[in-house]
This record gives sequence, C-alpha cells and structure tokens, in this order.
Amino acid sequence: MSTPVIEISGVKKVYRMGETEVFALRGVDLTVGAGELLAVMGSSGSGKSTLMNILGCLDIPTAGSYVLDGVRVDGMSRNDLADLRNRKLGFVFQGFNLLPRTTAVENVELPLLYDRTGRWTNSRQLAADALERVGLGARLEHQPSELSGGQQQRVAIARALVTQPTLLLADEPTGNLDSRTSIEVMALFQALNEQGITVIIVTHEPDIAQYAHRVIEVRDGQIIHDHSVAAPRSAATDVMAMDVEAAELTAGVTKEAA
Ligand code: ADP
Ligand code: MG
Repeated sequence: MSTPVIEISGVKKVYRMGETEVFALRGVDLTVGAGELLAVMGSSGSGKSTLMNILGCLDIPTAGSYVLDGVRVDGMSRNDLADLRNRKLGFVFQGFNLLPRTTAVENVELPLLYDRTGRWTNSRQLAADALERVGLGARLEHQPSELSGGQQQRVAIARALVTQPTLLLADEPTGNLDSRTSIEVMALFQALNEQGITVIIVTHEPDIAQYAHRVIEVRDGQIIHDHSVAAPRSAATDVMAMDVEAAELTAGVTKEAA
C-alpha cells in the first residue's frame, strides 16, 4: 500500500450519558493509503459518524492511537488539532451546512478567512477557482436558497477543497439528494480522487458504495468487513447512461405522439 494517510489502532469511544455508558467504538484498527476512495457502510447507530469525527479530529477517542498523514494526533491540544484540521482535512456533511443569505463564493471563502496562519492571500480568487472545479463557476453570487440540493452540496465540496486538503471526509453526503443527483456527486468525488485526494465517504446505501475502491462495514462499533473493489463503477458513465435513457424515452414518447 502507498503511504498511509490514516493509521488508527485500538480506537475506542465511550460516551457517558449520566449513569450509562454507550460504547460507540469498541476497538477499531484501520489503515487508509494515500489516494484511496473508501466507503464506510453500516446501519444507523453502528458508529460510522463517531469514527468519522475521530478521523476528522473533531472528537477525541477514549483509547487508541491515531497517526494522520505522519502526524501523531492522540495527545494533541485542542488548538493543535484545529490547526491540523485546517491544514489537512476537508469536511462534507449530509445537510450541506452552508450559511444562508451568504453567496456561494463567500461560503467557500470562509475557511480561508478563518485560517489563523495567514497562509492564504487572494482568498476570493481561490474560492472562485474551487467553485469552478466543482462545475459552479457560473453560480458564484447565488445564495444557497437559489441553488438546488445538488448544487448546494457542490458548494459544500468546494468549501472542503479550498484549503487543498490531503483527505476529504464526507458523512452521508448524498443522504439528502435524489438518486440521480447522488450519482452526480459521486462522479465529482471520483474525479477529485483521481486528481489525488484521498476520500472517505460514509453511506448506508449500497448503490453509493459501489463507486468506492474499498468498502468497510461497521457494526456495533467494530469493523466487520473490509474489502477492495476490483473494478468500481464509474459514476460519470452511469450519469451519461441515464441521460441517454432519458433522451430515448423522450424520443419514444414523441414518436408515439406523432
Ligand atoms: P452512525 O453514524 O453509524 O449512525 P453514531 O456514530 O452516530 O452512529 O452513533 C454510534 C452510537 O453512539 C449510537 O448508539 C449513538 O446513540 C451513540 N452516540 C453518538 N454520539 C453520541 C453522543 N454525543 N453522546 C452519546 N451517545 C452518542
Ligand atoms: Mg451517522
């Protein structure tokens, strides 16, 4: 395998709820190499989001070790974790999480403005470039309410990309989208992955997981399956096939009507 981007070992997470303890992760080992496109599957409550939050340095495990892109994460301070997140990670969520009444380009620019290192100059141009990259170069000044769900998720993906992350983490990114739009979003993830970004996508839909190169399944806080996919489906090809089918259907309808 290529250089690991993620190496976790013996990761456990226990949530305390008053008197009771919830064992969300019960000892997870996972290595993800640079350039992988990984799908994390599992039913609701199995621990997928807990795992993603730990991989994303948004939450700290109760036990276990974590090395992210060569950096030892466990034991780091909150501030150092925040810096690491800004430098290496991009996040995409099911609900898009865009600021309302704020244009697409402003939404995408935000992570650059929040960055404390001051390493970004010309943030507006970088945000516009990121939107161009996700096919929204003509929608810079649109507010979320003026965009479709799929377009809003593209804005969110541009926002995740704008800091040039090593790793993109997406928790149920197609959960609020219809099936065609979901496949379009998967085509975008596949394209970004081909450009070199490591991508981890949580989904409980097998149709979505078939676009990944590797699928792991989480059950009751543990990884119970881990397999690579020899020939993943191409989401771009599937979108094109849907267009052809729609065109043929329309042509058929027109012919019958004539
Ligand atoms: P999934 O994303 O697979 O649906 P989660 O990782 O969200 O699963 O949840 C795993 C388990 O941990 C569930 O039993 C859930 O109720 C519990 N859990 C998740 N987050 C918290 C929290 N902040 N406090 C207490 N329990 C939690
Ligand atoms: Mg979840």
